[in-house]
Amino acid sequence: MEVRTRLLYQEDSYLKECEATVTLISGELVFFDTTIFHPRSGGVDHDKGYVEFHGKRLSVIEVFLDKERNDVAHRVLGVKSCDLKPGMRVKLVIDWNRRYKLMRLHTAAHIISSIMYNEYGALVSGGNITEDYAYDDYTLEKLDKDVFTRVIEKANEIVSRDLEVKIYWLPREEALRIPGIVKLASRTPPDIKNLRIVEIPGVDIQADGGPHVRKTSEIGKIVFLRAESKGKAKKRLYYSVQP
Ligand SMILES: [Zn+2]
Repeated sequence: MEVRTRLLYQEDSYLKECEATVTLISGELVFFDTTIFHPRSGGVDHDKGYVEFHGKRLSVIEVFLDKERNDVAHRVLGVKSCDLKPGMRVKLVIDWNRRYKLMRLHTAAHIISSIMYNEYGALVSGGNITEDYAYDDYTLEKLDKDVFTRVIEKANEIVSRDLEVKIYWLPREEALRIPGIVKLASRTPPDIKNLRIVEIPGVDIQADGGPHVRKTSEIGKIVFLRAESKGKAKKRLYYSVQP
């Protein structure tokens, strides 16, 4: 099912603010007809920012998918003691520094996972992208730090090629025929008619709902942080990006 609100960040990951109408307020949670806030999903952390109306600014501290309502919930501080009401027009503004870091790490994650899959047959079984660093769990038996450092070296080589990150929609049936379109079994695409495709030509193609940079060079330099064993076939790679 399609999410109720219009997800502007899926159309343009570089939008920093937008106008929106409040559709529902439930406790501290506010829903809008449209949003630029990326909810925590697909292993990528949520945006932060604020709602502006009548000269006031209220902080948005958490954003997530409300599964019951099938909508994006924004946890807004101080909403109970103000005059925000459904039907009101407001401005939504994201913390761009945080978002841009998430975008850079997210595109880096796609490049790394594609090299891990193509060269070592390793699949991602989980992961997390925060503002400061990211990690991915790979289905590898042996913990070999050299494998990870070599993969990051190769990923940086791809970054420096300055490839365009293409984003487009395809009918579900057509998209699911593309080999490797779903890299992570637990992240099966939502049951919607058109899937959003994120393609780094010649490197990676995935059905993906999150924000990405336009060019791989925007990632900067991917830096290996550490590797840890988290179980028999679960080896975790931590990394970050630098300007
Ligand atoms: Zn992704």
